[in-house]
Amino acid sequence: MLRTHTCGELTISHVGQKVTLSGWVQRSRDLGGMTFVDLRDRYGITQLVFNSDTHAELREAARNLGREYVISATGLVAERSNKNAKLDTGDIEIIVDKIEVLNVSKIPPFTIEDNTDGGDELRMKYRYLDLRRNILKNNLMLRHKMGFETRNYMNNIGFLEIETPYLIGSTPEGARDFVVPSRMNPGEFYALPQSPQTYKQILMVAGYDRYFQIVRCFRDEDLRADRQPEFTQIDCEMAFVTQEDILNTFEGLVRHLFKNVKGMEIGEIPRMSYADAMKFYGSDKPDIRFEMRFEELNDLTKNRNFKVFDETELVAGICAKGCAEYSRKQLDELTEWVKRPQIGAGGLIYLRYNLDGTLKSSVDKFYSPEDLKLWAERFNAAPGDLILILSGKAEKTRKALGELRLEMGSRLGYRNPEVFAPLWVVDFPLLEWDEESGRFFAMHHPFTAPKPEDVPLLDTDPKLVRANAYDLVINGSEIGGGSIRIHNKEMQNRMLNLLGFSNEEAQKQFGFLMNAFEFGAPPHGGIAFGFDRFCAVFGGADSIRDYIAFPKNNSGRDMMVNAPSTIHEDQLKELQIKLNLTPQK
Ligand code: ASP
Repeated sequence: MLRTHTCGELTISHVGQKVTLSGWVQRSRDLGGMTFVDLRDRYGITQLVFNSDTHAELREAARNLGREYVISATGLVAERSNKNAKLDTGDIEIIVDKIEVLNVSKIPPFTIEDNTDGGDELRMKYRYLDLRRNILKNNLMLRHKMGFETRNYMNNIGFLEIETPYLIGSTPEGARDFVVPSRMNPGEFYALPQSPQTYKQILMVAGYDRYFQIVRCFRDEDLRADRQPEFTQIDCEMAFVTQEDILNTFEGLVRHLFKNVKGMEIGEIPRMSYADAMKFYGSDKPDIRFEMRFEELNDLTKNRNFKVFDETELVAGICAKGCAEYSRKQLDELTEWVKRPQIGAGGLIYLRYNLDGTLKSSVDKFYSPEDLKLWAERFNAAPGDLILILSGKAEKTRKALGELRLEMGSRLGYRNPEVFAPLWVVDFPLLEWDEESGRFFAMHHPFTAPKPEDVPLLDTDPKLVRANAYDLVINGSEIGGGSIRIHNKEMQNRMLNLLGFSNEEAQKQFGFLMNAFEFGAPPHGGIAFGFDRFCAVFGGADSIRDYIAFPKNNSGRDMMVNAPSTIHEDQLKELQIKLNLTPQK
């Protein structure tokens, strides 16, 4: 062994022992007649001491060590006179009598410190150096723990982890597939799974009534902020269950993870219907760490000769506690904020409830103090509060107000990443109408069952059909989603028809699943959690990228190995693929 201990484990109890440590040189510094080297490995940092009185040659060698050199050092553990409470090993140091340089290192292109000077792209290119930093190391340890505890919990309640293939047929699930050409079947392609959805349903038909898998999924989407083309799900499916059973089972998983990974007890997870989430928070993934619910003001604002409100579909607002003192400048800035194209509001109306009890709005011309009083009452506002109001088309206004709510929540410090507010959003609509293409899309996916009581609406008003479909939301992030599935061929075919598939197309694409349904398919349902995001939320981070060891950048590139890349002419020939590239704009 090139070490007797790690760099993170020696304490006062080891004083007097002869030890050998191996690791990377974090830094070295000279102080008087001594040289100190911080030696780092995955477990921590230990201070090495070289003293020129006794070992002039050795000290010289230590002075020549560069950053990130890999060395092995042997010496005696000694108590430090100058203890460092910030380090686990801060009570001791090693008086070195032998070092061996195991490998040298070039000067790293950025500092391997918690606050590094490296930009994103540089750190992606040298990911192995970035991964030496505490932040990433801690993230990957958290991820490991999440996976481990998930397996623990699932195993204990009888779930089997079963792998499903990565080379499958293309099945539309909302996103574009990544495809892989088949050399043995020229002109034919595999697709990488967007999720194991159809396989896990077929496992239910096969009788494996409790399945899970921590599994990679692939979606070729235009990379919006913080999406990865490959990501990981905790994918789960159960047979002979209702929605209630699934919510309870996985509430158990969420509770287990909070307890065993974060050491936190969470109470019962509240539930909210999709309709309420949209109406009161303007989002299907509300951040309920804070209240600030929407109130609607149509009845109080119309017919006062204020054209903007008279002609609009929805007038709604939020109450920002204690913000009445916002200056003109701050309000102007907020108005600009809501008018940005990403938010898209036409303007912002405010009502100040001053500390002296008077009310002042930006539309005083049209509304009497009595009117304004009624507005304030609707919000249950108190002196000192600021009411912010948007108006316009209902859906768009709710969305914009939802963004404003989050912004105000952040400004008011209501979105503490160490506070966790999980929520089930339930009763999602089955279908979503797409104006552009003039057709329905499955809101969750085409295998989701309509609520039995809503089935008659499929013929009359499909938009109103709800599904037993649910999402788990934590702090405004969608962490998981699932549904009770269709398990009957006719219903599946009918659903696919609604989504624009002819019977033939449905058979061609999903025949394997519908055929399986004809051989004793049990009722079933499931859920999948976005594992990367789950880890990021637990870590209190916004971005999933640093919870993945080797992520892609925003253009879907692996900067370290430089993928994707062209392939050799011979490989193309073998695949019988001829490129016909048109210059990219
Ligand atoms: N396969 C679904 C998804 O990836 C999850 C589920 O319905 O279980 O979103």
